[in-house]
Amino acid sequence: MNIYIIDSSAILSGKPISLDGKIVIPESVRDEVMREDPKLLELIQGNVTMESPSRESLLLVKEAAERLGEEKRLSRVDKEVIAVALDNKGRGNVCIITDDYSIQNVANLLGLRFKGFSEKGISERFVWRYRCKGCKKVFKRFFPSCPICGSELKPVVKGRRKVDV
Ligand SMILES: [Zn+2]
Repeated sequence: MNIYIIDSSAILSGKPISLDGKIVIPESVRDEVMREDPKLLELIQGNVTMESPSRESLLLVKEAAERLGEEKRLSRVDKEVIAVALDNKGRGNVCIITDDYSIQNVANLLGLRFKGFSEKGISERFVWRYRCKGCKKVFKRFFPSCPICGSELKPVVKGRRKVDV
């Protein structure tokens, strides 16, 4: 089974996230997104669960970050993303979705796979449109509410491309 750990920047990018597998969001990431825009969490589709990292994994992440000189560049939330990925190692095919170079660097040292989000990452797998629940107009980009009638927008997949994650 594929298990994806998603960091805040991927969610805050506003692109819908749809992945074939289990999607794990660290609770601190959810809190960060909730403070910015709770609606963004609705753009994540699939089997989503929230988890808090174990103390053991957090310690391992801290040690690895210190060894690489990344300690100061990683926020508490960043460390929790990596720690939750460590917790899930052994439960399936774990992959962190992040564009953060420091997270990628530490993940690499800990033997965790990662995938960039904005460049060639998962967002390329789908072509997304946003359909208004009210007037049904379809937009190319996401708005918090429909610019025409003010109703909610819902992400719809227009097409797919086959890209291996
Ligand atoms: Zn509308």
